[in-house]
Amino acid sequence: MSTNLLELADRLRTEADAYEYLEELRWAGSPYCPHCGSVRKHYFLKPANGSSRKTTRGKDSERRVWKCADCRKQFTVLNGTIFHGSKIPVRKWLLVIFDMASAKNGMSAREIERKYGLASKSAWFIAHRIREAMKREPIAGLLSGRVVADETWYGGKPSNRKGHDSRGSRKGQHDRTPIMALVSRETGEVRSQVIPDVKGSTLRAVLRKHTDPASTHLHTDQLPSYRALGREFASHSTVDHEGHEYVRDGATTNHAEGYFAQLKRSLDGTHHHVSREHLDRYLAEFDFRYTTCKQTDTERMNRIISRTTGRRLMYSEPAGA
Ligand SMILES: [Zn+2]
Repeated sequence: MSTNLLELADRLRTEADAYEYLEELRWAGSPYCPHCGSVRKHYFLKPANGSSRKTTRGKDSERRVWKCADCRKQFTVLNGTIFHGSKIPVRKWLLVIFDMASAKNGMSAREIERKYGLASKSAWFIAHRIREAMKREPIAGLLSGRVVADETWYGGKPSNRKGHDSRGSRKGQHDRTPIMALVSRETGEVRSQVIPDVKGSTLRAVLRKHTDPASTHLHTDQLPSYRALGREFASHSTVDHEGHEYVRDGATTNHAEGYFAQLKRSLDGTHHHVSREHLDRYLAEFDFRYTTCKQTDTERMNRIISRTTGRRLMYSEPAGA
């Protein structure tokens, strides 16, 4: 199924359509009661006038409400998702998710605000909630096989060459943030994160957390921090950025270079500047899109939606969305 934003908007004309889309995706035909866990029998509560019902505040609502035959409680497909209790229409949530899932350079809160007619606080909220859902699963397994490790610096004055001194730091780097990325050549998965410095001990900690050294063939540049560290892996190949040697003995860090180039285009072009404090969330978004680049936009969107279940709310929604 190939879908673009217009086709999706056409499919999701009303709130009820958006509920139905989620029901199909989450329940696949057998509704699940979030109160007692029953999947036995549920009644769809048909709105009195056919399409909408009155809320307790007297507003018309197109929510699709179900009633559980076992516990007699009511529920909707939104129970337990990030959409539950949100004043932002579900339809808008879904369209923004699709948009963010397919935007190569990401989307700024300002773009979301303008395009979807949301208050600026709501746009910021929705963007960060969606980024949260793009985060890697905490139980993600270890990487193995050929893994590229590379670092880049973000922020501060632009640098015209990549280089490091023997202490793993550079003069004038105080205002710049180092980012480390691991790219699996086997699966295309990317895992990146902000790191405090590029010392061997720091890089080791990241590699230890994400790879199985005995079955990992590590590819890096010639940063001295990797020298001792590389011996802990099944093999270690390096390429020399300084000498513009990007491929040697089949080792290349191009995959990470490509990732960083796209990341910087987005951070500078789309978001203008991202503070260090928020950087990790943008990295999660980038890792997600890069890792899923072979999937269709709809597949990516559905994957994000499936991750909106049971995730803890990290921010409270602003009033007056
Ligand atoms: Zn129940």
